[in-house]
Amino acid sequence: MMSHRPGRIFLHTPGPTNVPDSVLSAMHRPAEDFASPEFARTARSCLDDLKTVYRTDGEVFSFIANGHGVWEVPLVNLLEPGDSVLVPLAGRFSAAWAEMAEHLGLEVVTTPADLTRAIAPDAVREMLERDRDHAIRAVLCVHTETASGARTDLRAIRRAIDDAGHPALLVVDAIASLAVETFDMDGWGIDCALSASQKGLMMPPGLAFAALGRRAMERAQTCNHPRRYWDLQFRRGDPTYMWFHGTPPLQQVWGLRAALDRILAEGVDEVIARHRRLADAVRAAVARWSAAGALSFQCRNETERANAVTAVRVEGGDPDAMRKLAHERYNLSLGGGLGELEHRVFRIGHLGDLNEPMILGALATTELALQECGIAVQPGGVEAAIAALRTQHDNRRVA
Ligand SMILES: *Cc1c(COP(=O)(O)O)cnc(C)c1O
Repeated sequence: MMSHRPGRIFLHTPGPTNVPDSVLSAMHRPAEDFASPEFARTARSCLDDLKTVYRTDGEVFSFIANGHGVWEVPLVNLLEPGDSVLVPLAGRFSAAWAEMAEHLGLEVVTTPADLTRAIAPDAVREMLERDRDHAIRAVLCVHTETASGARTDLRAIRRAIDDAGHPALLVVDAIASLAVETFDMDGWGIDCALSASQKGLMMPPGLAFAALGRRAMERAQTCNHPRRYWDLQFRRGDPTYMWFHGTPPLQQVWGLRAALDRILAEGVDEVIARHRRLADAVRAAVARWSAAGALSFQCRNETERANAVTAVRVEGGDPDAMRKLAHERYNLSLGGGLGELEHRVFRIGHLGDLNEPMILGALATTELALQECGIAVQPGGVEAAIAALRTQHDNRRVA
């Protein structure tokens, strides 16, 4: 029997994120004929509105999949076995994507991970400059590395590719950054960008998206990689049945419609600004706690800290015991360390359907749990977060 837990769950893992009530109720619908014009219109409108979120005039495809599933889409639609790809490593997610590429028969070259920072554009440029005969067909770049909380400057990566005079496609994992960070697919010269439903898009897991620009679509048309379920060509036709290569996930599409309605009503730029505000509040609290010496930001460079998640390093204490206590005693879920960062960090997810009181509640409870676990923290994290929020709202009023 599940034990009774009063109050709401405070979900601060960096995915899945809170599903708003309006999205949940939109999905509470009977099954229907997916050939109905109303459903087709709704599914199409979602793909069109996703273009606004991605900021692209390209094509958006959707898949019944999670992030790992959609990782495979560019690997089989844009690349052929034996092709080389460059995967700049930055943490567990970029490493897992590189492993997947290898399993699919691609030649994977990497730049080494520095888990305290984002991907270094210079390392990408040097690697491409060395590739004189242009064997590297694509650069697979994770925008926000959810394991370390570092956000890579995609404009700088584009510049690195251009400075090297290299024709490789730029393929981006925007799973933790779409509808969270400023994202300008066409403006930044991104050829293909991936996302999944359960992060910034505030949906249950199960839907994933790939946006492709013209160059990537052209490559997809001539690509010889054997594929069927993930084949984009197959998913372009008229019947709604083929948009998902089979029965569409009806209720999820209605949920997505409601989620996009929320994003568009708030405004994409406002959604991004809200994430920045809340992330600043979290960072103010972590900085305050860290003054006692036991905690520090996993991502050392301030300008690279992501607005989706903050990874906090713990010296002289057990982050997993703290997370367990926070969860069991207070119904607060925090993320744990991944890969090499296992048992070394905890992660505060601050993306999706969140507002100031939710963030302040999560920070207050984290501070409590840290203290209860005997991890040395400078008190006053919540006051620091309040001060950060106040400054921002004062600035907004002036602006
Ligand atoms: C969450 C995440 C993934 C994996 O998504 P799943 O839906 O769990 O498969 C991949 N990349 C990044 C950057 C993520 O944050």
